[in-house]
Amino acid sequence: MQKPSRRFIYQQLAVIVLLILAACSPASPAALPSPAIQANTPPVLPTLTETSTGALPRTENPPLVQTTPPDASSESGTNMAISCQAPAELTPPMTEGPFYTPNPPLKTSLLEEGMPGTRVRLSGYVVDPSCNPVANAYLDFWQADAEGVYDNNGYRLRGHQYSDENGGYALETILPGEYPGRTPHIHFKAQAPGGPMLTSQLFFPNADANARDRIFDPRLVVDLQETPQGLKAFFIIVLLRE
Ligand code: FE
Repeated sequence: MQKPSRRFIYQQLAVIVLLILAACSPASPAALPSPAIQANTPPVLPTLTETSTGALPRTENPPLVQTTPPDASSESGTNMAISCQAPAELTPPMTEGPFYTPNPPLKTSLLEEGMPGTRVRLSGYVVDPSCNPVANAYLDFWQADAEGVYDNNGYRLRGHQYSDENGGYALETILPGEYPGRTPHIHFKAQAPGGPMLTSQLFFPNADANARDRIFDPRLVVDLQETPQGLKAFFIIVLLRE
């Protein structure tokens, strides 16, 4: 039998070396797991979504209160969900104005039979800067009617209530009208048990008169949504406890 030539042996060795090098080289992109295989890995979903206020919740330090409106339910048709992010900024104070009447009645609905205006349900939570709910907080709302007129003789569109054990509150009312110099707003006072009284106002998004109101504050704008059950407004009130 004829011995293989030296050249043939070198060629065979070169082929083997090339095969070894090919086997040890880094995987090319084509060798990555196929999408179908990758899909078997559970997707990492964000645990929190962007809030309706546009603020991104912090994920490294989960909020103590991740809130939905107290009246939110599966059939409510609302998807409002706002996270309280500690440390939460205190709700800014604002002028009381000339139309406050002390000692308003206890009521969670300011609606009266035949009252003109667009119905709105304002709800939310009272929390402290650590986002802990403030139960039994005093809340006092007063506002103008749909024509921008206050009742300065009685208690129409005026009432007080207390937050529930979860800090939740809800008020049935109407959208207030504009009056000279003022964009639509709802006045309120809020006080944690034993804490200082906050006096402020709530505003509505996309009201044309916001830009013309010299004391308008975007931090006091409610989250407003049209739902099958009507207009719903949402706002978290952040109070000092003492
Ligand atoms: Fe006012």
